Amino acid sequence: MDGVNWDKPVSKDQQGTNTPYLLPYTDEVKAATDHLYERVKHVVTPMEWPQKAALIHAINTLKKEKNAVILAHNYMTADIFHTVGDLMGDSLALARMAAESDADVIVQAGVHFMAETAKCLAPEKTVLIPDMEAGCSLASSITGEDVRRIKQAYPGIPVATYVNTSADVKAECDICCTSSNAVQVVESLGSDTVILLPDQYLAKNVAAQTDVKILTWAGSCEVHEQFTAEDVQDLRDAHPGVVIITHPESPLDVVQAADFAGSTAAMADWARKSGAKKAVLLTECSMSDNVAVDVPEIQFIRPCNLCPHMKKITLENIYDALRFNQHEVDVDAAVIEGARASVQAMLDLPKPTVPASFDPAAQEKPVDLVHV
Ligand code: SF4
Repeated sequence: MDGVNWDKPVSKDQQGTNTPYLLPYTDEVKAATDHLYERVKHVVTPMEWPQKAALIHAINTLKKEKNAVILAHNYMTADIFHTVGDLMGDSLALARMAAESDADVIVQAGVHFMAETAKCLAPEKTVLIPDMEAGCSLASSITGEDVRRIKQAYPGIPVATYVNTSADVKAECDICCTSSNAVQVVESLGSDTVILLPDQYLAKNVAAQTDVKILTWAGSCEVHEQFTAEDVQDLRDAHPGVVIITHPESPLDVVQAADFAGSTAAMADWARKSGAKKAVLLTECSMSDNVAVDVPEIQFIRPCNLCPHMKKITLENIYDALRFNQHEVDVDAAVIEGARASVQAMLDLPKPTVPASFDPAAQEKPVDLVHV
């Protein structure tokens, strides 16, 4: 194919080193990618662009050849999110969009549990993840076996799981939830007590918004648990007038100190509609970069934490995933059936017209850990 050097220099990935591709920046590449640079020029320098542009063009060409789509999570770096991503959003939205697409191949630019969710919702498609090591501290905090033991120890109490879990865990639970609908899901179960796994901070934030008694697990997101209420106050002192937007995977006192808390989709939506001049998205670093492209009127102050798992996904390993059909994610058929049932139970609930948010004025309620 004109302008794309498919075979050399050879990728890093087969050798396990980190040498980037050096594909040629031809006139064809320039013509095909100039419009994309407009979307990432706030984070990619003109010196860096030619090398990235050649890789981006090669990826976008391969996608067409293989009838592939790239699912780009909100926490992907802007060069991935805005130049090669076909479907963008949070993990469940991505999986649902992928299932509805007519692509044969799904490349998950995100972490492993997201690729599993995509496989569960689209089992007939080939699902690839560019780096098998892209995990998640929440998903790895609990296994299907843990859930089986919890159900034995707490018979009759419904078990809901946050979507940030393996397919095995989803398959063992009664219903899934996202940070957009966690309160709705918990209240839909018709029980005065619900076990909400595995994020202890999401559980505490949900408990503050409902009269249902919540039991939980000691899992946490290593990115969002690091923020503190003192960080919020320091930001307000340093940037008068700033609005602080956070995520319910953060501790309750951070949510209480913020102006708004909700899912990644709700955060972006609220930022767009807030009329704010200055804002902080207290979350994973790339989220602000990606929202800033669509909301240029807001100055985003960026105290953020990187997710080391999300950052394992690069343009280079996305290219390799497409070139070499690596690394395929498969899920046992029985697990797919159970996980789909858990996701479907959530999807069967009435869809909120706007993503739910967490009231910062809500007061703390006791939340116990399950003991198994
Ligand atoms: S940001 Fe947190 S929840 Fe998301 S993948 Fe990283 S560790 Fe997991």
